[in-house]
Amino acid sequence: MHNDTVVLLAKGVKFMAKPSFFIKHVDELGRIVLPKPVREILELKPRDEVKIVLNGDSITITKNKDSCTFCGNKDGLAQFGKDFICKSCVAKISDLK
Ligand SMILES: [Zn+2]
Repeated sequence: MHNDTVVLLAKGVKFMAKPSFFIKHVDELGRIVLPKPVREILELKPRDEVKIVLNGDSITITKNKDSCTFCGNKDGLAQFGKDFICKSCVAKISDLK
């Protein structure tokens, strides 16, 4: 593996039918764009947090599931399906009519 290759491991069988790696350029500010198939498989939406873990000369990027899906709060989380929701947002949703 080259140092400039990022391997993104994801869940799900559907990933097997698509390329398992992508070559992307880092821009002047150190940013890369996650390929659309990767965002779809990881169910990443704009403003979602990701966790970047350095493993020697490679990185692993995973969706950070340690925050509220709606507001990003990290305290008092309850799991709702595959996502998390905080008590404050649960209360706001409960007040909806
Ligand atoms: Zn919330």
